[in-house]
Amino acid sequence: MQREPCGPEQPAARDHGTAERIGLARAEAALLAESLTRQWEGVVEASALTANDDEHDPEGSTVAYERERIRATRDQVYREIDALDRAARRLRDGCYRICERCGGPIAEARLVARPTAATCIGCASRAGG
Ligand SMILES: [Zn+2]
Repeated sequence: MQREPCGPEQPAARDHGTAERIGLARAEAALLAESLTRQWEGVVEASALTANDDEHDPEGSTVAYERERIRATRDQVYREIDALDRAARRLRDGCYRICERCGGPIAEARLVARPTAATCIGCASRAGG
């Protein structure tokens, strides 16, 4: 793991808003993950109830598809929570506005649009995302 080329910066008033924004987004994502877990359990339960039915029931593939869809969405939400946690940590460490890749500044507008951005727009577009 490469040491991030950054350190404590001047505490700016805008950081309070940023920390709040990250915290809110994280709380929302956690609620979403919870709801997806309940949905997933619901689908699993529903399929368990019909487990005695004909295995070749066309419903079976629909359940599998639905379960896979919910799982994929939940994984995505977990990745988002992970990214938000990393952003909150970078904010505490004073690395929040510094590109992880080139050490250059990340534009404020980019951070407003995407609070989890860890790279500047130049590095992000070179990485294809
Ligand atoms: Zn960069």
